Amino acid sequence: MKVMKFGGTSMSSADTISKVADIVTSSPEARFVVVSAPGKRDSSDVKVTDLLYRCYDERRKSDDIDEAFEPISNRFYRIAEDLGLIGKSGFDLKGELEKIRSDIDGGASVDYVASRGEYLSAYITAALLRRPFVDAAEIVRFDDDGRFDEKTTFALCADKLDPKAGAVIPGFYGVTKSRAVKTFSRGGSDVTGAIIAGAMGAKVYENWTDVDGFMTGDPRIIDDPKIIDIITYRELRELSYMGAAVLHPESIFPVRSRDIPIRIKNTFNPGACGTLIVPTDKFLKGEYKRAELPLTGIAGKRDFISVQVEKSMMNNEKGYARKLLSIVEECDLSLEHMPSGIDTVSLIIDGSGVREEQIDTMLKKIKLELRPDRLEVIDGMALIAVVGHGMNRRKGMMSQITGALYRADINIRMIDQGSSELNIIIAVENCDYERALKALHSEFSI
Ligand code: ASP
Repeated sequence: MKVMKFGGTSMSSADTISKVADIVTSSPEARFVVVSAPGKRDSSDVKVTDLLYRCYDERRKSDDIDEAFEPISNRFYRIAEDLGLIGKSGFDLKGELEKIRSDIDGGASVDYVASRGEYLSAYITAALLRRPFVDAAEIVRFDDDGRFDEKTTFALCADKLDPKAGAVIPGFYGVTKSRAVKTFSRGGSDVTGAIIAGAMGAKVYENWTDVDGFMTGDPRIIDDPKIIDIITYRELRELSYMGAAVLHPESIFPVRSRDIPIRIKNTFNPGACGTLIVPTDKFLKGEYKRAELPLTGIAGKRDFISVQVEKSMMNNEKGYARKLLSIVEECDLSLEHMPSGIDTVSLIIDGSGVREEQIDTMLKKIKLELRPDRLEVIDGMALIAVVGHGMNRRKGMMSQITGALYRADINIRMIDQGSSELNIIIAVENCDYERALKALHSEFSI
């Protein structure tokens, strides 16, 4: 049995939803279908979820939401009409829209309003597929502090989802114990799909999107990145941390802990085999086979800040690193890496969203409390992660990496390799970032 989740582009129009229906009906194992709200039809379009947030904002400003609600109802009417659903018995889109409209008028919460895109998307898809519609409010539960409650959710899924009948379920939200609608963070329908797959013990969680799979490198920079056919959960984590995102980061937890693989598929190219994300232990035991390449993928991010702290005999001073870390925490900065030498420690901080005064306060505190001999801040650093289980115990990896960067005339500012030999992190200057990615990608011909 498999769970299939379709993203916003797949749900954006009657045309794309018909493709979704073809994919579902041609797969006898597909029991549970989780859907996003309609996304953009082209680059100038607006996602339904964004229209709903706008509508909520409008309601807070004034009593009249006619103008804000109209594009939402038009969008759903058009989809239902083009799919030939209007007038079908039991299909009452008008009633559903009227109820939503009156809830918004009555001051419904922001999460409730935002969740209605997924709700209507699933309502329409269930009618088209002639499968039961199961509202996520019936099965996905949060506690009253807003934390996802896996135990109750899994029990509700076991009780309310019938694998024989199957179901279409809206993604992105659930309810708290006191039945207030609560959404996951943006892109959270991926999480709902993973929860249903975990709860129902699916053989595979298929995540249908608009790309052929996870790529070996960023297609905006690398000319010929390839689709990775098999990637482990560990490799995926390392690459997505560096921004190579196809899936919502939280969507792996409910399936990973139950050894359920995820397959990324493309609704617009269903014949492509996609990327299979597999449990790391099973892969390392040889249960999944892929070409034996040293690297699986390369990803990176710009705009890190490196703070270098130097103090002679630092190693003899107890609690130095702990005090340094407390200062970072007090300044509300998040630490990404902390390479160290005998008398030096560097703090690598993700600079996006960091305010200048946070860094200034941190530096003042370090000077005052730790009295370093030298304190230097270097900003504009890019980190690149070179990732793959194939690197483990393979000689010469580092020399190949440094050689490729040397030949491309790029200076390496820092190197960090974990003892698992799964990941080597290299820091270069922002201005060398793209050239470094290209040089590494072509060196390893992945
Ligand atoms: N519709 C929501 C969003 O735009 C959730 C999702 O699509 O997964 O973020």
